[in-house]
Amino acid sequence: MKPNALLRAGTELLFPAACVICGSFAGVLCPVCRQFLQIEKKQICLACNQPSPNGATHPDCRPSALDGFLCCGKFSQIQPLVHAYKYERASELDLPLAEFILEFLKRAELLDFFSAFLLTFVPLSSFRQRERGYNQSELLAQRLSGIALLPILEKGLTRQMDTKPQVKLGKEERTVNVRGAFGVDSKLDLKDKNILLLDDIATTGATLNECAKTLKRAGAKAVWALVLARG
Ligand SMILES: [Zn+2]
Ligand SMILES: [Zn+2]
Repeated sequence: MKPNALLRAGTELLFPAACVICGSFAGVLCPVCRQFLQIEKKQICLACNQPSPNGATHPDCRPSALDGFLCCGKFSQIQPLVHAYKYERASELDLPLAEFILEFLKRAELLDFFSAFLLTFVPLSSFRQRERGYNQSELLAQRLSGIALLPILEKGLTRQMDTKPQVKLGKEERTVNVRGAFGVDSKLDLKDKNILLLDDIATTGATLNECAKTLKRAGAKAVWALVLARG
């Protein structure tokens, strides 16, 4: 163990983790910062970016692969959490983030609606999975499944090919970049299943749309997506 890592391990034994937002030693997301996390109340239709009271895709915007899209929080508040979650503190942040999603679902009175859904997640490219050692959206889906008692589809989507990171691409390029990127195991029967697809942050929604298309090709009846925030 490097001296730094040793020091950190020792410090964490003696003191609770520092809050990733304010730095106070009161847990990885301290009660004060947790209390200030705002629940997003305004939902949009991802196909046209116009308001939709419950996140459902407008009838006029169909056919769209996604039947609905929900965003739980504000990007400015969620982004630092997701950054810490992805790059260093996944094992500590998955529970508070899953609890935040559960609170959103309860406030939006959507928990009953989603009880007829299977939870799944966007798979990472094999390169990213190797580099990071875990898929943050998978951990989040497992946690949420545990606390919201929603069944999870563990091996739902697979990566068919690695894609360029979406960050530097425009909207059209993003759609092209992820085309054909996902697959579903041929043994998996999704006929008439409803799927709730989880991811951390969505931008244009190109990845979520491509995942939804893939799930529908495999027979899924309805596909909704849920993200922590939209950037
Ligand atoms: Zn704090
Ligand atoms: Zn619309």
